Amino acid sequence: MANEQNNFSEIIAHCKEYGYIFPSSEIYDGLSAVYDYGQNGAQLKKNIRDYWWKNMTQLHENIVGIDAAIFMHPLTWKASGHVDNFSDPMIDNKDSKKRYRVDHLIETHAEKLALEGKKEEEYALLKKMDALLSKDDFDGLKNLIEENKITCAISETSNWTDIRQFNLMFDTKLGSVSGEEDTIYLRPETAQGIFVNFLNVQKTGRMKIPFGIAQTGKAFRNEIVARQFIFRMREFEQMEMQFFVKPGTEMEWYNFWKAERLKWHESLGIPASKLRYHDHVKLAHYANAAVDIEFEFPFGFKELEGIHSRTDFDLKQHQQLSKKKLQYFDNDLKEDGKPIGNYIPYVVETSVGLDRLCLAVISNSYANEKWNKEDGTEDSRVVLRIPAKIAPYKLAILPLVKKDALPEIAKHILNECKESFHAFYEEKDSIGKRYRRMDAIGTPFCVTIDHQTKEDNTVTIRYRDTMLQERILLADVKKIIMEKIN
Ligand code: ATP
Repeated sequence: MANEQNNFSEIIAHCKEYGYIFPSSEIYDGLSAVYDYGQNGAQLKKNIRDYWWKNMTQLHENIVGIDAAIFMHPLTWKASGHVDNFSDPMIDNKDSKKRYRVDHLIETHAEKLALEGKKEEEYALLKKMDALLSKDDFDGLKNLIEENKITCAISETSNWTDIRQFNLMFDTKLGSVSGEEDTIYLRPETAQGIFVNFLNVQKTGRMKIPFGIAQTGKAFRNEIVARQFIFRMREFEQMEMQFFVKPGTEMEWYNFWKAERLKWHESLGIPASKLRYHDHVKLAHYANAAVDIEFEFPFGFKELEGIHSRTDFDLKQHQQLSKKKLQYFDNDLKEDGKPIGNYIPYVVETSVGLDRLCLAVISNSYANEKWNKEDGTEDSRVVLRIPAKIAPYKLAILPLVKKDALPEIAKHILNECKESFHAFYEEKDSIGKRYRRMDAIGTPFCVTIDHQTKEDNTVTIRYRDTMLQERILLADVKKIIMEKIN
């Protein structure tokens, strides 16, 4: 545990030092559970978002993307169930006044048991918790906390209040004339923007079921226990896809997307051993099947993506509250030769947090390496082995010295490459220091221009992951990098 924590603290410090992630409004001491992405973090995030978007929309001819507004009509959230149900059971410690999400409090205790080698106790505790949560048995959950002598991390007492539900939506006012305002919500998920546009997209795009609508964008949740860096934030970004299917075929598509999404995460360089499925015991009010894809973060396996079979719950609810028909006319023929006709489609959803994905990629890529050099002395480096296709910079172009026309050659390569991919030019410091800095930022390739370049038109290419170097033709630099990043 101590090592995991150290490793996680190192990763957080590294993100700040190398322009990936900063605490929001840091000069005012930050804002709890809100973060800003710096120059490298923003580029990594964009690259992951683009990779997802391309996979969903360009590589699936039956999925299109939209960009709906964050503000939606307040009835949207009544229909979706968020006004009445989007709450978590919470418990307060009377001494420290600290509030905890009940499942997090129990899970943290279970993790402690696991670390003490009490695997069976851990398993039994989580099993009991799942059973009580699925019945909304708050008295039972409080008993479970007391029986296990679970204490507050701050006061170290078990002086607990009763368990209560807290809604997680942020609200605000629309309009400036007092008395005429309406309470509206910052969307807690992007999915509803897709549901309310279902018929707009289906009709204007002449989409035929099965088809999907994808969207990426900000979501907001007033998380009570906001912790673990960008894992749980109050403002975050989701990448969601709702796949509309014929009722009765939803389990087939649910299994399809479950497998498909796991493969997608592996394509981001995340090894299969760090990913696993976690089936939901307690299903949300809208779902008839649900699974999480979990990633092994430095603090243990946690949800990265949710795949939910949402039935026709959302479209039916919106149809009822808006009084507008949200049906699809299926003109495929039945056995009797007549069209299947109107129905409300069922929906399979894939929903992944972009910030959690950034954290997964960064923590999977981060390595603090030490080795012995040929002369027996120790050397070390910190490297981010981010896959080249999503790394913020693909190539660093480094003139060995700031003179002898080497910078001019380097800038020529930069100009040639920058239309096609992000390249970084750097002439300060020794070449060794510049390589280390590029390792720490996660730049997969460096080319160095030296005096030999002027003689034979070759440069040294250095590979981040192996640190191997070889000479290649100057004229081939762009072509070689293009091959490696695609
Ligand atoms: P959790 O149980 O961790 O609160 P959830 O089950 O409420 O997550 P969903 O509503 O299924 O999450 O949202 C889909 C995805 O959005 C999650 O898998 C996660 O990647 C991301 N996500 C949800 N809440 C947050 C948050 N507060 N900060 C960052 N990402 C989040």
